[in-house]
Amino acid sequence: MSLQNNLEDVKHNLKSAAVRSGREEKDIMLIAVTKTVDEDIINKAIELGIDNIGENKVQEITRKYENIKEGISWHMIGHLQSNKVKYIIDKVDLIHSLDRMSLAKEIQKRAAELNKIIPVLVQVNIAEEESKFGLKREAVIPFIKSILNFKNIKIMGLMTIAPFDQEPEEIRYVFRDLKKLFDEISENNYNGVEMKYLSMGMTNDYEIAIEEGANMIRVGTGIFGKRNY
Ligand SMILES: *Cc1c(COP(=O)(O)O)cnc(C)c1O
Repeated sequence: MSLQNNLEDVKHNLKSAAVRSGREEKDIMLIAVTKTVDEDIINKAIELGIDNIGENKVQEITRKYENIKEGISWHMIGHLQSNKVKYIIDKVDLIHSLDRMSLAKEIQKRAAELNKIIPVLVQVNIAEEESKFGLKREAVIPFIKSILNFKNIKIMGLMTIAPFDQEPEEIRYVFRDLKKLFDEISENNYNGVEMKYLSMGMTNDYEIAIEEGANMIRVGTGIFGKRNY
């Protein structure tokens, strides 16, 4: 399969799932996850219409950054160590993985130095897997309240990673639960919080995630093929 065919397939599936959930293709942002993918292939994907890319490692962002076409948005989707925030704070358009106070403090500090406001999503570990990062569901609202006065951080939604090893239908509840929490936070109308993005769904489960309300999906393998680590 070629990159172009893969992309067409993903977009087709995205569109069908969007329609099933009463929305349109344009309502769902496709983030191409480019971890382990070389710059020339990433640039090819950009030529084919990709305008959002996601990376999970700080080193990969800093290594690739200068070689990737301008005008695209960069998403930090992986676990972020506080001491590495300074390397990407001027490069990424959205951080999907805010999951603790120490990280919030560091983002606030570095963003303030640059006089920038950094959009973030709060990462939630709905399935409470020990191996996954993210706040437990019940910790999310208290956490959001505790950083409402961080002037250089803008909370724009939630992100989750569903368990990998299960039948897609068995993880539907993960997406449904996160959507419920998303709506609850939206209704609370916290000052400065704009609940706009619900980032959930990867290659194996993005159609179900869209059906349950995702408006940002993160697809790697489905676009670029299997990764060789
Ligand atoms: C790797 C990764 C993805 C994409 O995974 P695929 O199964 O290749 O689509 C999405 N989100 C995060 C956080 C990832 O690390």
